[in-house]
Amino acid sequence: MQLPQHCTLCPRACGANRAAGAVGVCGAGDTLRVARAALHHWEEPCLSGDPEAATGSGTVFFSGCTLRCCYCQNFPISQQGVGKEISAARLSEIFLELQQGGAKNINLVTATQFLPWVTEALDTARARGLRLPIVYNTGGYETVETVQALSGYVDIWLADFKYASSAVSAELSAAADYPAVAEAALRRMLLQTGAPVYDADGYLQRGVIVRHLALPGHTQDSLAVLQTLARLREETATPFVPSLMSQFTPFYHAADHGLGRRITSYEYRKVIDEAVRLGLTDGYMQQKSSAREEYTPPFDLQGV
Ligand code: SF4
Repeated sequence: MQLPQHCTLCPRACGANRAAGAVGVCGAGDTLRVARAALHHWEEPCLSGDPEAATGSGTVFFSGCTLRCCYCQNFPISQQGVGKEISAARLSEIFLELQQGGAKNINLVTATQFLPWVTEALDTARARGLRLPIVYNTGGYETVETVQALSGYVDIWLADFKYASSAVSAELSAAADYPAVAEAALRRMLLQTGAPVYDADGYLQRGVIVRHLALPGHTQDSLAVLQTLARLREETATPFVPSLMSQFTPFYHAADHGLGRRITSYEYRKVIDEAVRLGLTDGYMQQKSSAREEYTPPFDLQGV
């Protein structure tokens, strides 16, 4: 495996010499770090099935992140370095262990900073019998080149589309270029993966799920996001699965950035009404009552 000497794996293009052990803005250096690998029951039902069932999404949480969201619910791993150093060979074993444990898919959460390890581990695991769909769970902040590099590896893109305003993305995720970058990446994902394909039991096998988390005080930006998504669907002639989320909880430094409360029913109603108006209804709309910390699993190195 070759590590970059001037890393441009993500849109930050911070240029860290990863091969020489330098650590990038994302917190990643020359080792692979993973915080948890287990069946997860709280993704969209087409990925994780019935929460009471013995199955689930075989979810691998990677350490570090290319975004700096002030409200990140996974902040111990995304921004505080929790995780264990493992090899690409061990990662391939983890994929196979999740398959053996009944996973419906392999769900890679925030993996881009470790792309060279991930593709090597997927190659090894495929050769050893991995047959599950691969889900790439991303904040949406990806380069078109990285999306293309994952063609043939990723079956399902589970991508956020967080913001339409660069002022908002600069304030909340330290990424003023997020709206333009995420739009280009999502366009590529849609063209690469095509329309959603389900198996006989309703599990998604291929396609794109686009998540949007409604934030308190930012309803106008949510409406603009939905309008962008409707336009992208039109331009690419490719349907996707929209997933509107109301679970915002003021984690981490959220309150310092004006996000010190949950969203109101009125705010969420406005967002849902716009989704309905735009026909973005062939997916999921979370109940307002679902704002619970149990969506966040313990990052206790389980399965690593
Ligand atoms: S993946 Fe990390 S090291 Fe590479 S460009 Fe992005 S922030 Fe920098």
